[in-house]
Amino acid sequence: MARVKIEIRPLTIQMDGPLVLGTGFRRGLIHRTVERDADGFACIPASSLKGRVRRACEQLAKDVGLRVCHAPRPSGMCSAHKQACLVCRVFGAPGRGSNLRWQDARLPEVYRSAFKAIREAQFYARTQVQLSRALGTSAPERLFTSEFTVEDLHFASSITGWLEITPIAGDELTGGYEILLLIAGLRLINTIGGAASRGAGWISLTLPEKVRIGDMEVHWKKILENVELLRWYQEEKSYDN
Ligand SMILES: [Zn+2]
Repeated sequence: MARVKIEIRPLTIQMDGPLVLGTGFRRGLIHRTVERDADGFACIPASSLKGRVRRACEQLAKDVGLRVCHAPRPSGMCSAHKQACLVCRVFGAPGRGSNLRWQDARLPEVYRSAFKAIREAQFYARTQVQLSRALGTSAPERLFTSEFTVEDLHFASSITGWLEITPIAGDELTGGYEILLLIAGLRLINTIGGAASRGAGWISLTLPEKVRIGDMEVHWKKILENVELLRWYQEEKSYDN
């Protein structure tokens, strides 16, 4: 097992429509506000991005028949004592931190200068009625206001750090099962935040053409050529020990 340095940069998130990514905080009459960075610009927190990609990876790993623990409940997840599932090896688990750093997805400079004068031009509020499902009625107290960003923004993030990898037998050049799962998961996501059913949060995520793995620069398409091998991870792992 080898510990290698990873760099996936930049990770570009192009919105197709607005972003709604609730902070859970109320601001004035708005019940749910979009996350902002320290300078007041809209951003996608690293934790949201990572959580979204983790869920995609969990689904993929289950689909190919791998053992996956039950995140996000800590009690259902791999513990520090037993052998972690492939998903926890990439994303971490309680008591088993991950050495991969996910960066908040931030607005690039071109937007920052455009919105500098009027930060609030990034956002608009939309009020919706929450219908009572049982009664099929609405009431004034059920009016709910969420904040949206303006349409079609893009954000840039990155994933860098160290990863313990399990090599794929016969392939020394693409970085092992952990990177394979991560790249495949990144390629699967097409929404972020809430409100996809209301036309918000649709994204297309673009990987850098080449991903840095240790001393190598590897095209992500090359890594994904091995996606059929993902199902063999557990068997390979048992040879490894
Ligand atoms: Zn796990």
